[in-house]
Amino acid sequence: MAMMTVERLHGLFDENPEKNALAWPGKCHDCGCEVNVTALPMEDGIHINGGSIYEPTKDHFFLKCDTCFEKDSLLRNYQDCEVYSRVVGYLRPVGQWNDAKAQEFQDRGLFDKSL
Ligand SMILES: [Zn+2]
Repeated sequence: MAMMTVERLHGLFDENPEKNALAWPGKCHDCGCEVNVTALPMEDGIHINGGSIYEPTKDHFFLKCDTCFEKDSLLRNYQDCEVYSRVVGYLRPVGQWNDAKAQEFQDRGLFDKSL
């Protein structure tokens, strides 16, 4: 889970004492629509409006609109992932395979012994 924590939000307000609200304008990571997520400190806590903010690594933000957040609250597919599989007897990253072997990897299916 990479959602921004309340502690981090408080930290951002501490770092920017001149601001009484924080805003993250940008695009929704999932659907690409325009979003403007705002954080407003109130007596009962910080109010987030306009969507969700994710910060999987420090100072790298991703946004989600409310509709996409309701469908899936997790942040997915935000960084490359190295996949290893067996090819000609070795385990190698699939991204380094030649085109023919990469296609072969795409064509692979799962073996179901119950059939
Ligand atoms: Zn969206």
